[in-house]
Amino acid sequence: MNNTISIQLLKESIRNVPDFPKPGIQFKDITTALKDPETFQYIVDMISDHFAGKGITKVAAIESRGFIVGGAVAARLNAGFVPIRKPGKLPAAIYKKSYEMEYGFDALEIHSDALSKGDVILIHDDLLATGGTSFAAIDLINNFNISKIFLSFIIELTFLNGREKLSHHEVHSLVQF
Ligand code: AMP
Repeated sequence: MNNTISIQLLKESIRNVPDFPKPGIQFKDITTALKDPETFQYIVDMISDHFAGKGITKVAAIESRGFIVGGAVAARLNAGFVPIRKPGKLPAAIYKKSYEMEYGFDALEIHSDALSKGDVILIHDDLLATGGTSFAAIDLINNFNISKIFLSFIIELTFLNGREKLSHHEVHSLVQF
């Protein structure tokens, strides 16, 4: 575990970009945190340590910012990695779910052979805003009759109450705004 970084330093390393990608949105840019080796390690350490021992068999990460830390956490947990992707990217048979998020509408897809019933899933994304994206990811995973789903985020925008939408599952975030 890296001891020189703290949650406060991590929070300060996230860049706020006003009015991106639309007027009124305060975009939380994690590239300023990830480019620092110690901060990147710290994020991966903190999330992996939190979920170690929970029996997670696969990390399902959401395109595209969820892939960066999701892949590293999967490796740490000795779990498999499953991409949840934007429409038209996955080459084989899929399940699909449309949804609304903080600044628009979109859809997510997962390969229909990506998970099996006995899997314990950790959904990872960079940020929880309204919860629409994560709710859609849960909906996709429900196609597989999975009984245990955990959710992980680097950042949570608490004023948007996204956590309420995900209340049937354990939600973990490192930094709250
Ligand atoms: P939501 O579905 O509203 O919870 O939105 C979460 C998704 O949209 C995540 O994949 C984030 O990457 C992205 N997102 C939403 N709002 C922001 C924001 N203010 N800053 C950065 N990313 C955001």
